[in-house]
Amino acid sequence: MPEQPHEPIVPQRALVIVAHPDDAELACGATVATWTASGAQVWTCIVTDASGGGDDHAEDVGPAARAAISAMRKAEQRAACDALGQAGALFLDYPDGRIEPTLELRRDIVRVIRQLQPEIIITQSPDRRWDPFFLFRHHPDHLAVGAAVMAAVYPAARNSWDFPELLDEGLKPHRVQELWISAAPVVNHWVDVTAGVDAKIAALRAHHSQLGPRMDELATNIRRWLAENGARYGVGAAEEFHRADLR
Ligand SMILES: [Zn+2]
Repeated sequence: MPEQPHEPIVPQRALVIVAHPDDAELACGATVATWTASGAQVWTCIVTDASGGGDDHAEDVGPAARAAISAMRKAEQRAACDALGQAGALFLDYPDGRIEPTLELRRDIVRVIRQLQPEIIITQSPDRRWDPFFLFRHHPDHLAVGAAVMAAVYPAARNSWDFPELLDEGLKPHRVQELWISAAPVVNHWVDVTAGVDAKIAALRAHHSQLGPRMDELATNIRRWLAENGARYGVGAAEEFHRADLR
């Protein structure tokens, strides 16, 4: 049974790092809404350029089509962040569907961490969770982002010796206090998100190009899943994480 904190944890600054638009809202949208309602500044960093999220059977997958999808999905992500009361969205613009946990990606994530100085980072799991099996959790971009973020928070973000070129940019080491992993194989923390469920659904509705046709069904399912989580802890709704203390 995951721990039951006496007091909710609310950071002053937090950063959500995920592969694609809508990943953040699905993983932790209600938690983010709960935090921003308490005054937290929360950013979302999207690693990909979101250029690959069109029709599975599309015949035109050329540069112009990709650019159009990318622009639309970035606008949807900004609207989703607005719906959650966030400080903003950032995009690292790596090619969608081709993410690897490279040194270059690690450095680019360290740069964002040092710029924004979050106390808590939420990201995707680098490890596979098989039970329950949800296909989207096995997207190679999600696994790669999780691995890159873990490598960025320790030790590079806190260590002058890693990526000295960032010192030349004026970016000093920053020690992230906590890493929260969504969809991790081991869950050890939950957040009472009863007050954030509606905002999570509203933010997901902003991702019209991806979720539009099935959004009503998805909203029903999300409310049920969050309520089932919450029932385990005696609250109306909960989002679950693996919470790692990095202090
Ligand atoms: Zn994704």
